[in-house]
Amino acid sequence: MADLVGAIDQGTTSTRFMLFDHEGNERGKHQLEHEQIMPHAGWVEHSPVEIWERTRSVMTNTLNGLGLQASDLAALGITNQRETTVVWNKKTGRPYYNAIVWQDTRTDRIASALEREGKGDVIRQKAGIPPATYFSAGKIQWILENVPGAREDAEKGDAIFGNTDSWLVWNMTGGVNGGKHVTDVTNASRTMLMNLETLDWDDELLGFFNIPRQMLPQIRPSSEPSWYGEVVSPGGFNGVPIAGILGDQQAAMVGQVCFAAGEAKNTYGTGNFLLLNTGNELVRSKNGLLSTVCYQFGDNAPVYALEGSIAVTGSAVQWLRDQLGIISGASEVESLARSVKDTGGMYFVPAFSGLFAPYWRSDARGAIVGMSRYNTNAHLARATLESICYQSRDVSEAMEADSGVHVEVLKVDGGVTANELCMQLQADILNVPVSRPVVAETTALGAAYAAGLAVGFWQNTDELRQNWNESKRWTPEWSDEQRANGYAGWKKAVDRTMGWVDV
Ligand code: ADP
Repeated sequence: MADLVGAIDQGTTSTRFMLFDHEGNERGKHQLEHEQIMPHAGWVEHSPVEIWERTRSVMTNTLNGLGLQASDLAALGITNQRETTVVWNKKTGRPYYNAIVWQDTRTDRIASALEREGKGDVIRQKAGIPPATYFSAGKIQWILENVPGAREDAEKGDAIFGNTDSWLVWNMTGGVNGGKHVTDVTNASRTMLMNLETLDWDDELLGFFNIPRQMLPQIRPSSEPSWYGEVVSPGGFNGVPIAGILGDQQAAMVGQVCFAAGEAKNTYGTGNFLLLNTGNELVRSKNGLLSTVCYQFGDNAPVYALEGSIAVTGSAVQWLRDQLGIISGASEVESLARSVKDTGGMYFVPAFSGLFAPYWRSDARGAIVGMSRYNTNAHLARATLESICYQSRDVSEAMEADSGVHVEVLKVDGGVTANELCMQLQADILNVPVSRPVVAETTALGAAYAAGLAVGFWQNTDELRQNWNESKRWTPEWSDEQRANGYAGWKKAVDRTMGWVDV
């Protein structure tokens, strides 16, 4: 009896495979990190070949470790780091270049030129997002312009593009022997190439980046009863239907069961992503947020979301560990930060990839301000946690201004939510209670839900709602004065980061 659904979560730092039962409980998991390749300041790459290898390993390790077979799985869902760009040759299966990761800023001149040429508003109107280094189109253009032979092969239809969802599906469904070249609407909505109303690639947008249409995958709903294809490789999964694909943040919305307009969640991973479900209505932001597809289940109308994306949150903690060496593991940041009662006046704005929402300033770079001789590593650790929370407040204010919706309780998930001090600071800085569910792996869970809904493993979203349970809630403790002073200092610190580099 197939009583499990599998989910691949191809994230920025790692790839994991997870199994869930009908109640949404985790029944198996395996995870492997992959290399972060940083050849120049601002460049971030992954090896697509390594990602595909890691994906196969985590899938087979989970299945073999539990003594399970393909017949135990009703379906497979995929969720992935969005925007990260792979271009590969469909005849050889070889990538033309490393995957260019969403955080990579090498296309800052492409983005600022679009704005100067007056194309920014067309992109905002059609794609719902501003021209920025973050999205896929500039990264595809960069590969076509910089890798010998890539453009010629793209014109011939041999060089094809995908985010990591497409790359994995193509490989899993046969690769050079007829692999399916598909993606879902949520991933497509992050490329700067899809029209948010027609849900199709847009010729004018393709023209801005000089991208041949035949490079692009077919756009499908996020939950697909007729399936994206059946698994051929890895062999232990032969015949299992791939029935759901969602970009990671949209998957977290589904995993957090944010199915009604007005429901929101904040995911704390490498970066932070606060999304608000706006129902079937496409809300256009006046305050620096993105309009994006939240999900589309089968033939139903698409559900849209407003999104505040923050580039650097959990990765600032990694920076303390890897570049500064002031902690030896991410979890140590909590005890270090707890060793002092406040930041001693220090603010850290980790604008390593410029500033994303709500500022969208690719000319910003990181800054630590407000220091005196008194400050220590511990203050910096605490300022790092506060920076995660202040950036979330910037986004949440923009969201309230755009939608008029005041979120009563903030649902949270992601790696950083293991940090209890950070969650308390978030409640204090936002003046809103913060709630973490029992299953913190909402991204993988959301992908499993999308796949399971498609094949009838779950009947409807009401059934999924019953699976959601709170594990912990943090309530605000700061005084209004402390909150106001703290936030005023943050705003001053953010000002200092802007205009730092010429783009
Ligand atoms: P992603 O899916 O983006 O790869 P995860 O949800 O796995 O991210 O979260 C990983 C991030 O969480 C890393 O950037 C790491 O630094 C951060 N992190 C993990 N544990 C903690 C902790 N206890 N305190 C603060 N940050 C943490």
